[in-house]
Amino acid sequence: MSVDTETCKHQIVYFGVTNINIDERTIGSVDTWRCAICKKKFCEEKQLGIESISDYVGMPKIEADEKWAILVRKLFKGKERWNLVRLKKDGTIKVENPDDKVVELPVKDYKVDNPEYASFLIDDHVNKAIEI
Ligand SMILES: [Zn+2]
Repeated sequence: MSVDTETCKHQIVYFGVTNINIDERTIGSVDTWRCAICKKKFCEEKQLGIESISDYVGMPKIEADEKWAILVRKLFKGKERWNLVRLKKDGTIKVENPDDKVVELPVKDYKVDNPEYASFLIDDHVNKAIEI
């Protein structure tokens, strides 16, 4: 019998790390935890050299129909080039860019569909590196 991820009293265990690289140099990472019961995943972004400032208590929230992903802004450099985001299968995502502009990007099959951006699902990259 499968466990409902929304009513599960999660038992979180560390699952792995995804490194974010530019020219093979790691500039940040995403830690992934997973519930041992319902297998739901929880991720946290870590920018190298920056203390993580969390605006939540406990595990980061994600809806049942969303997946964790790395958003890459191709027009920005360094730590401004990426963020951890949640993508729905289809729809749009609102993104606040480092220049304070908010853009709405189309999402198709858990991928950002815009030539100035790219996205990578964490599910496919746990304990691997993503070259951005
Ligand atoms: Zn759970």
